[in-house]
Amino acid sequence: MHDAPAAAEFLMPTYARLPVAFARGEGAWLWDDAGRRYLDALAGIAVCGLGHCHSDVVAALQTQAASLIHTSNLYRIPLQEELAGRLATISGMQRVFFCNSGAEANEAALKLARLHGHEQGMEAPSVIVAEGAFHGRTLATLSATASRAAQAGFEPLVQGFVRAPYGDLDAVERIGRANPHVSAVLVEPVQGESGVRLPPPGYLAGLRALCDRFGWLLMLDEVQTGMGRTGRWFAHQHADIRPDVMTLAKALGNGVPIGACLVGDAAADLFGPGNHGSTFGGNPLACSAALATLGAIESQALVARAAALGATLLERLRSGLEGCAGVREVRGLGLMLGIELDRECAALVPQALERGVLLNVAGGRTVRLLPPLILDDDQATLLVDEVVGLVRRFGDED
Ligand code: PLP
Repeated sequence: MHDAPAAAEFLMPTYARLPVAFARGEGAWLWDDAGRRYLDALAGIAVCGLGHCHSDVVAALQTQAASLIHTSNLYRIPLQEELAGRLATISGMQRVFFCNSGAEANEAALKLARLHGHEQGMEAPSVIVAEGAFHGRTLATLSATASRAAQAGFEPLVQGFVRAPYGDLDAVERIGRANPHVSAVLVEPVQGESGVRLPPPGYLAGLRALCDRFGWLLMLDEVQTGMGRTGRWFAHQHADIRPDVMTLAKALGNGVPIGACLVGDAAADLFGPGNHGSTFGGNPLACSAALATLGAIESQALVARAAALGATLLERLRSGLEGCAGVREVRGLGLMLGIELDRECAALVPQALERGVLLNVAGGRTVRLLPPLILDDDQATLLVDEVVGLVRRFGDED
């Protein structure tokens, strides 16, 4: 670890970065520029599901980079067509629009919600969003995001959002009865940034039923939960429902920027030529990485691995932290795990870093673990031992 170099002064200070820079990664391990090794239990914030520098992704990138990197969406891109087909197969959705990030995928979803509303004769369609939601930092997705701190200073926000408590179906129904201008609901199947918050059982199925009843699009932000993270390809599959719109990014390219907005029947014909676009979206290089990522998740059976390992980690963290001062709840779905404390605990992040473990704190009080799906059993044991030790020592302070 070292102090940030002077050259960092040329960066806009939008991030409170930790004083470490990584030089190399392999699987669940990262090495800093002084050669020190860290166990990565954050995977680039749910991005590197296959761990760092997975050989299939590296090989696909090397081959593709040497043949064709970018052409633009003025032309057919066969790798994009192939990737869309693969995503449609595993999701049951019909069509895909490719972009470069989670916020952009959600922007596409929000534009679809407006088109859907206008088709139904609404002048100013609204989208129901949840308290605690995080959907991105562009103006529209920031407006859909629930954090006042993140929104502060960027007013006027984009209009057309109605907020309901996360997990509260009655509140959504009340909005539906009172407000004829709603065209869609946008939620995360598990809220990540606000602290690994799982909705009560029946929430997604209940939202599906309400959307069907009111003619709304059910739009699920699976940017963090998608691509096997929760032990199914997509988290909504735990609830046996299908959304009308689903957004992906993060783990889709295992670190190569790519996002996607997928639509089912009800939204399949909303976008036409000229409605939306992206210069880079779904370029050959990004698609080659995503195809290799999908292939490796399949061939290594990593969705099932995430489910099994997630259940084991949850159980071991719960038993290791039983009776621990300050621990409110240990919860999770697959390899999206949270340990909620009764106080702010951001100080745990540098303490973990000091011990060679990368994790973070979401929502101020929840230690969040998002390890790569390829984490092996020994690494899982090391992770539990380290996290239990850190949280126990933290609980014993004061
Ligand atoms: N949606 C969810 C659920 C997220 O967790 C995030 C990022 O953390 C985003 C959207 C925004 O994604 P990006 O940072 O790629 O724009």
